[in-house]
Amino acid sequence: MHEISIAGAIIDAVLDAAKKNNAKKVNEIFLEIGELTALNPEQLKFIFETISKGTAADGARYDIQVIKPLIKCKKCQYNGPIEFFEKLHFFLPVIKCPSCGDIDVDIVAGRECCVTKIKIS
Ligand SMILES: [Zn+2]
Repeated sequence: MHEISIAGAIIDAVLDAAKKNNAKKVNEIFLEIGELTALNPEQLKFIFETISKGTAADGARYDIQVIKPLIKCKKCQYNGPIEFFEKLHFFLPVIKCPSCGDIDVDIVAGRECCVTKIKIS
C-alpha cells in the first residue's frame, strides 16, 4: 500500500535525525501532508505507530497538518484553492482552474509529505 512505503521512509528519516542528535526518544513528530498526496492522516498515524514499535519513536505523538491544495493557472492567472470535481472510490481529485476551467495549472501547494519538526529527549 502507498501509505506503508511512505510511512516507512518518514520513520527512517526521523530515527536517523534522532540518532544524529543522540536522542533516546522521539516525543513528537510534526508532519505536513498535502491533500493531493491522497494520503490519509489517520491511516498514516496508525502505520507510524505500528512500524515504530520498539524504536526510539515508539509512543511518539503525531501532529499532522493537512495542506490544502493551491494552484496557479497559466491561462487566466488565477491563484488560489481548487475545487474537487470528482471523487472516485478514494480521494482522486481532478485538477482544473476553478476560474476558467483550464487544466494547464501549476500546483503551488498540496503535494507536501514531509516532517517539519521533531521533538526529542
Ligand atoms: Zn484559469
